[in-house]
Amino acid sequence: MQELTSLSKLISLEGKTAVITGGARGIGLAITRRLAEAGATVVIADIDATEAENIIVQLKSQEIDAHYVKCDITVEAEVRHMVDYILEEAGNIDILVNNAGIYPRKSLEEMTGQDFQNVISVNLTGAFLCGRYTAEAMILRGNGGCIINIASIEALHPSSTGMSAYDASKGGVLMLTKSMARELGKHDIRVNAIAPGAIKTRGMLFQTSPSGNRSQLKELKLFLSRIALGRLGDADDIARTVLFLASDMAEYITGEMIVVDGGYLVS
Ligand code: NAP
Repeated sequence: MQELTSLSKLISLEGKTAVITGGARGIGLAITRRLAEAGATVVIADIDATEAENIIVQLKSQEIDAHYVKCDITVEAEVRHMVDYILEEAGNIDILVNNAGIYPRKSLEEMTGQDFQNVISVNLTGAFLCGRYTAEAMILRGNGGCIINIASIEALHPSSTGMSAYDASKGGVLMLTKSMARELGKHDIRVNAIAPGAIKTRGMLFQTSPSGNRSQLKELKLFLSRIALGRLGDADDIARTVLFLASDMAEYITGEMIVVDGGYLVS
């Protein structure tokens, strides 16, 4: 009988370098922590230096090999610099998690072309730029790699009033994932996506806070009532799925999107 690789070996990321965009808070921070726990050297690429540098200090105090590179993912030159910096610091990039994203709410009547473009720039163009330059580095090295795009269930259904730019951007992320998987498979680079439902993060709760709009709070309650598992998600629910996809547990999975929504879409 063929000997099976042990589970601990399959899930281990020892010797790998993982880059997490927007990795200093929310879902991104949970991902940073889990990938580090699995043994990866982690690099947080974030626009906000203060928050990220504090997190790096905390991670280093736990003997985690962690780095920060300031990067606005909408700016091509900054993305190229990010990749060069990581190659210099860590020597290689094995895993990219395209997590950074924004979700401002504006109705169609209020939304200008620039508002729409801003969301597309971060959520879709940013994921493309980071994926494109990281994949180039992975191809040059010739050792494969893994790209994980944090999409949303909004890639699969229109969510609510004011989210048309966001929904369009995440629909784009899903198709970008599939196209990149198709093109990069021959280099042994796997590209997958995760579609979170409602996850408790500062960004999401701020959007629906009491100081925000009453109808948004009502909407959140209605949303909650439709979640089969009866609770909002934790950032770690997404981080665990990222760990699975980043590891050899998912060695034969590419071009897929895993929905992590507590059963919202089936209700
Ligand atoms: P969050 O708490 O708002 O964190 C997003 C992070 O991305 C922040 O650190 C932010 O930096 C960073 N960022 C924003 N624009 C950037 C840019 N141009 N360049 C580099 N970094 C940038 O968000 P979250 O709730 O954790 O969401 C993370 C991802 O999951 C997003 O892609 C989101 O669309 C997706 N998602 C979230 C939910 C949810 O319910 N939370 C559901 C479905 C999908 P600043 O702090 O400086 O803004």
